[in-house]
Parts: sequence; C-alpha cells; structure tokens
Amino acid sequence: MNAVESVCSGLVPTELSDGDLLAATRRLVGRSNQLLASLLAHLGEVEARGIHRNRACASLYTYCIYELRFSEDEAFRRVSAARLVRRFPALLDAVSAGELHLTGLLMLGPHLTAENLAEVLARAKHRTKKEIVRLVRQLDPLPHVPPRIEPLGPEPPQLVPPSPCWEQFASSLNPVRELEPGERPRDWAEPMDGTEQTENAPANDGTEVPLNPPAPARVDPQRYRVQFEAGDEYVELVERAKALLSHAAPGTSLVELHLCAMRSLVAELERQKYAVTPRPRPAAASKTATETKLERAPGVPRQRGRHVPNAIRRAVFVRDAGRCTYRAESGERCRETSRLELHHTKAFARGGEHRLENVTLRCRAHNALAAEEDFGRGFMARASDSSSHEPWANGDS
Ligand SMILES: [Zn+2]
Repeated sequence: MNAVESVCSGLVPTELSDGDLLAATRRLVGRSNQLLASLLAHLGEVEARGIHRNRACASLYTYCIYELRFSEDEAFRRVSAARLVRRFPALLDAVSAGELHLTGLLMLGPHLTAENLAEVLARAKHRTKKEIVRLVRQLDPLPHVPPRIEPLGPEPPQLVPPSPCWEQFASSLNPVRELEPGERPRDWAEPMDGTEQTENAPANDGTEVPLNPPAPARVDPQRYRVQFEAGDEYVELVERAKALLSHAAPGTSLVELHLCAMRSLVAELERQKYAVTPRPRPAAASKTATETKLERAPGVPRQRGRHVPNAIRRAVFVRDAGRCTYRAESGERCRETSRLELHHTKAFARGGEHRLENVTLRCRAHNALAAEEDFGRGFMARASDSSSHEPWANGDS
C-alpha cells in the first residue's frame, strides 16, 4: 500500500471527494485517539511489569527513546500520561473517545483525585487547552498578586561574545614580554597630525582639557514590570480588542493594547474635566444657549454664570500644563496634578471674570487657601465646603 494511501478507503487523499476526504480525516482521528489510549495502557503495563529493563533500558522513558524511537518530548509526555491512566483508568475512555487530548490530560493530571475525577472529566470534555488552563486554576487557585509597577531600568545591552581570531589565540600561547624603553606595541597607531597622543591635551589657554570629554547623560527609555489581578471582564475585553484590531494591527501585544487604552482614557478624562479636545471650538461657540439668549435679548442685563466656558478651561489647562500654579514665597511651584480646580485670581464673587488672565489651575488645598485669603478663614469655616468660592473643573465636587 502506498505510504499516503488512505487507511479508511484504500484511496490516496487526492483522489477523494471533499465529503469523503473530511469523513476519512475524521475517522483517522478517531482511530488515532483509540490507538493513543491503547498505547498509553500498554506503556503503563510495560512499566508495571518492569520488562523494559530486559531491553537494557533503566526506565520506561529511555525504553521509549531507544527502543520505540520517540523524541525526548514525546517520550516524556507519553510516559507521564501512561502513569496517569494507570492511576485513573477512566482517563483511557476519555482519550479513546476523543473527549480529552493528551495536553489536557497532562495539565489536569496533578490536580486529579479519586473524588474529583468524574466531575473534572465532565468539565474538561472537548475543552481547548486555553479552557483547560482556566479549569486547572479553578481547581487550584493561585494566591493573590499584589498590584505594583516595578522599574526594570533601560534595555540591557546585547552581549555579543567577541569572536576568537587566530592572532588572539596565538598571542595567548606566548608569554607576555615587557616592552623595552621607547619600544611601542606592534598595534601602536600614530596620531593623524603627527603629534604624540597624551592623556590630556593642553588647550589654547594653557588649561588641560580631557581628550574625551564625558558625553552628556543620555536617558534611555525605561522599562517597567506591571502586575495586577484582573477579572473575567478584563480578559474578555482584551480578547475583543485584539479581535477588533486583528485586521488594522494584527499581533497587537498586551503592552500596546494597554498603552492605547490608557491614552484613550486619559484623553477622555481630560476632555471631561478640562474640555481638552484636539478640535476645540471657538470661544463664542462654547457659550451656553442661555448665555447667548440673554445676550441677544435687548434691555435685559447680562447675568453672570459660574460655569467657566470650555474654551477658557482648555486654554487654562494647556497654559498651566495641568499642574497647580501656586508658588511659595521661595518661588517653588506646587507639584500637584490631581484634583485640580479653577481659581479666579480676582474672586468671581467680587466681579472676577471668566477670562484666561483671571483663571488659573489650583489644587484643592491651594484653592482653599486662596479662598481663606479672599474671604477670611472664619467665613470659609462657616461654609459647608469651598464650593462657595469658585466653580471647579467639570466633574470635580
Ligand atoms: Zn497646589
């Protein structure tokens, strides 16, 4: 029989119709599963009898390699599986029926007991490797992982070992000889301008300057190990994002996915809180409908709203670089970049306008300090909170 002749039909695969080819392939896999189960049972019996020793093999593993000609990987997997099915014969039925693949069997093996065998086999039936990984962790959960971001430093240099050359090898055979006075090594190179090269060359003004001044410090991109626990929803969202990007950016890594998600999140939060947008509308267009109507109505005095227009918010955020602008007497600026609020230099309650020159970013503590300076500590203490001072950024308090 030809080596590629179908054992199911006696025909070579190229001569089969589509339907017959699929049916024959399926039958072959069925037979293969039965053969695998039978092989595991036989291997287990060989080891139980110890007869591999009669073939000059100290273990079933070496017997599989040197007598049965398996690769080392195949031998290790089949011997491990043979021991498992000998302990739990019910596994043979699952393998023979094609309900459990060899990889799944080996993954579940360490977690099987006589008590959980039936339940685990039912849950593992026809499961992919990925699904069995989840099942294993349900059977044997790992301890909590503390969230952390750990600096790893810059990319380590590629260590390429110098390739040995004959001269280096030959010189290593000769003892090192002290140079005579005035004698130079054979690989000595004369300087291009004919002057002797000294450690430090004199500069024009007579002071010595180093020949190789230190290069300016270069900050390499840093790497971090980021670790946290996540739930099912997170894993599902990652898989959905990867699927959605599968055409536009195939093979997107988890790091790239995270970076993309964090950029979107920060842009959205900045838009919500400070009206930062890549396409800002002109200031007039960002007035509320009520403000516009009041302006248009003749004879009606314009009312002052506490809402700072989005265009002003954007400009303030950009100008102040998203950081509290309070400066101490020493000139040192506050480093706070979270819980920022909009502060009117001339208090809104005293007629201060929503103008770029009159509005700055302040952290909550320094906005409260400004309120105390404007209205007095006693007044502010009587107020339920600092919200009576100025309107905050969108979404704050
Ligand atoms: Zn501050």
